[in-house]
Amino acid sequence: MAHHQILIVGGGAAGLTTAARLRRLRPQLEIAVLEPSADHDYQPGWTLVGAGVFSLAETRRAEVDLIPEGVRWIQAAAVAFDPDAATVTTSSGDTLSYDLLVVATGIKLCWDRIKGLPEALGRDGITSNYARELLPYTWETLQAHRGGPAIFTFPQTPIKCAGAPQKIMYLADDVFRRSPGVAERSQVIYATATPGLFAIPTFVEPLKQVVARRGIQTRFQHTLKEVRAASKEAVFEVKEGESSREEVLPFAMLHVTPPMAAPDVVAQSPLAVAGPGGWVDVDKFTTQHVRYPNVFSLGDVSSLPNSKTAAAVRGQAPVLVANLLAYLDGQPLTARYDGYACCPLITGYGRTIMAEFNYEAQPVPSFPLDPTKERWSMWMVKKNLLPWLYWNRMLKGLDHERRFVPGVVQS
Ligand SMILES: Cc1cc2nc3c(=O)[nH]c(=O)nc-3n(C[C@H](O)[C@H](O)[C@H](O)COP(=O)(O)OP(=O)(O)OC[C@H]3O[C@@H](n4cnc5c(N)ncnc54)[C@H](O)[C@@H]3O)c2cc1C
Repeated sequence: MAHHQILIVGGGAAGLTTAARLRRLRPQLEIAVLEPSADHDYQPGWTLVGAGVFSLAETRRAEVDLIPEGVRWIQAAAVAFDPDAATVTTSSGDTLSYDLLVVATGIKLCWDRIKGLPEALGRDGITSNYARELLPYTWETLQAHRGGPAIFTFPQTPIKCAGAPQKIMYLADDVFRRSPGVAERSQVIYATATPGLFAIPTFVEPLKQVVARRGIQTRFQHTLKEVRAASKEAVFEVKEGESSREEVLPFAMLHVTPPMAAPDVVAQSPLAVAGPGGWVDVDKFTTQHVRYPNVFSLGDVSSLPNSKTAAAVRGQAPVLVANLLAYLDGQPLTARYDGYACCPLITGYGRTIMAEFNYEAQPVPSFPLDPTKERWSMWMVKKNLLPWLYWNRMLKGLDHERRFVPGVVQS
């Protein structure tokens, strides 16, 4: 049985950032990353791929080039966690033991929870920016749209990047307006399981204005249950107080955001929280597991009750690393994550509201500007600066997030 001092499961945004930062702060640590994929995707760029701004290739790099020097990459998936024995079983049939485990497997997309959807995706105007292979089809669909209802959905579960279902909608509306008569013949509909436009009150009013300006119809408490591709109908369960009813909406194009949950291997393990989601059960401030002190978790798979974004990982990774090192040293865990997340709300080509907030739903802007305003400068930040920061700072462990209780992160 191979043993690793630190085993990181998942080499996505969270796993790579953690590995890189640990190596930088303590080069003598022995670290392995368990990650099955040969490629790494910059998913925050996917909205702009679906909107024809980035190419798919611009958002993908070889995993081997991103694994920090000195860190061992094991190209396999975790198929079972046994935290009582401090072991992980891999898809290659190996059992790995560890001193410390970091779980960063990301989120599972539950397409099959919507009847008729899996087989309908990728044709008849039915698409999703949440699947890499469908991104070119999203762009094709937006350009091919000639009128009729264009529906954009949001599910009843927590999702990664809660702004993404709206961002592509605003960009789509811009595309429709470019071709004479198309916008006039279209009705853009935002059908969401949530009771409002966005969970952070500060940003609701500006988004309401965007929706009103564009003439978008909002339908709240609408959960997509079924897609009837042949008749181009979307079936929703509509919550009304304690009861619910069914509503069938015709569509010309449909952009679906599927329900999401922790991957089965996590949800079915002793690491999971009781109840829905199956997230890794960690303390919301320290990122340490509530029952297994030698286990930490961050990113989309964790139970951290922040908005699930790569930006949140920027806030979480320094805290996790500081606490993990403290644990190794037998010191108290004093670093605290404040729930920082950022959702660059693209409200059209050339316009973005840079929504940054914390656990208290308070805005925490990085720029000395009113964060509720749509700005061209924030579009440039989203399009140019953030990808650069991701590849060159964050994944290299060089991103020193400032939003945690100071005085505890050693370097
Ligand atoms: C359309 C879209 C738009 C988005 N827009 C933004 C945005 O504007 N801003 C923003 O900050 N964020 C955005 N995000 C969200 C962001 O991409 C995620 O929150 C972020 O990638 C989370 O990092 P992670 O490491 O937890 O998960 P991921 O980056 O998804 O990485 C998880 C990794 O774990 C691996 N893995 C899975 N199962 C196993 C297993 N069993 N064993 C081992 N490894 C496993 C996967 O192969 C993957 O490499 C967007 C996402 C999408 C899809």
